[in-house]
Amino acid sequence: MKKTPYYSYDASLLRLTLEEAKKAMESHESLKGGCIHYALKANNNPQVLATIASAGFGADCVSGGEIRQALNAGFPASKIVYAGVGKTDEEIIFALEAGISCFNVESVEELRIISEIAVKEGKTANVALRINPNVGAHTHANITTGLAENKFGINMEKMADAVELALDLDGIRFMGLHFHIGSQILDMGDFVALCNRINELREWFIFKGVELHTINVGGGLGIDYEHPEHHPVPDFASYFKTYSTHLRLDKNQQFHCELGRSIVGQCGSLITRCIYVKEGTYKKFVIVDAGMNDLIRPALYSAYHKIENISNPEGEQELYDVVGPICESSDTFAKGRYLSSTKRGDILAIRSAGAYGETMASTYNARPLAESEFKL
Ligand SMILES: *Cc1c(COP(=O)(O)O)cnc(C)c1O
Repeated sequence: MKKTPYYSYDASLLRLTLEEAKKAMESHESLKGGCIHYALKANNNPQVLATIASAGFGADCVSGGEIRQALNAGFPASKIVYAGVGKTDEEIIFALEAGISCFNVESVEELRIISEIAVKEGKTANVALRINPNVGAHTHANITTGLAENKFGINMEKMADAVELALDLDGIRFMGLHFHIGSQILDMGDFVALCNRINELREWFIFKGVELHTINVGGGLGIDYEHPEHHPVPDFASYFKTYSTHLRLDKNQQFHCELGRSIVGQCGSLITRCIYVKEGTYKKFVIVDAGMNDLIRPALYSAYHKIENISNPEGEQELYDVVGPICESSDTFAKGRYLSSTKRGDILAIRSAGAYGETMASTYNARPLAESEFKL
């Protein structure tokens, strides 16, 4: 057994998830020939990336470093898109030289700099404009990104000017529109609202005779954190059906999306060991050797993760707080949670930790980064 804590990834579940996502998209005539870009920031474990790349997915990157990781993992540059509000000159040059398929541009200021750099480099940058659709996602406030005044994207009332600038600037090829309304979205109504907004915006392009080659709807499909055992594969069928039903696409328009969490979330668990069971006055604390530096989601978003005592799966249920060793009260994985009776040395699995787990880890408290295993 590996030294705890460590991330354990289930390769066969990952492959099944990839297959199901692709199948669900391809089953709709209007979405056929589209591209699912995997959002690397959810998980950039090299073996995870290589598996996703070899399944034929594209990549959605938010930094030069992620573009490099995507290329190293085998994603073709022609399937890499690049978003981010603060792309530096060095990152733009790197992306142009790599020949990525599209910059998802988040401001007119950025658009002008990409044009300047592309001209200097003798290249043409394919560009989609990220539009802020003013659609609120029913999810945690820290992970909703589609409302009006936001650091992300270009506001709708500025879209027309931005598109005309993109058509006018040298070194820029205008490809289409990009959106991303938030994360962990389970209410398909939020995606319907996005579709309706895109259909409205589309009218302006028809009126102006400006062609939209690509519509990129971003990511955000949620997963079942409460019952991962019932829903190991997210509901891709509903997700793609929503877009196929509600998004108006012309024959020559290509559908793109950027899924992160839903691709990798259920494929990973954080495996940790109980160091002590501390008897408090009213409570029992299971103190584990994983901390918020390994998995920050509970501390950062009050996120729920299912926890199982895999050393004593059939044991009697007892009420515990499950906490880490770090000197912060927020270093708590669960409060008042029923677990099989737990003792020192037991191994616990924190489920649904495949997305925004290992990628958000830090060495806070001078703790080493957790290792990982990729179970075939
Ligand atoms: C984070 C992000 C995604 C992926 O979001 P998920 O909720 O993990 O699917 C997609 N697109 C952009 C631009 C992002 O920033």
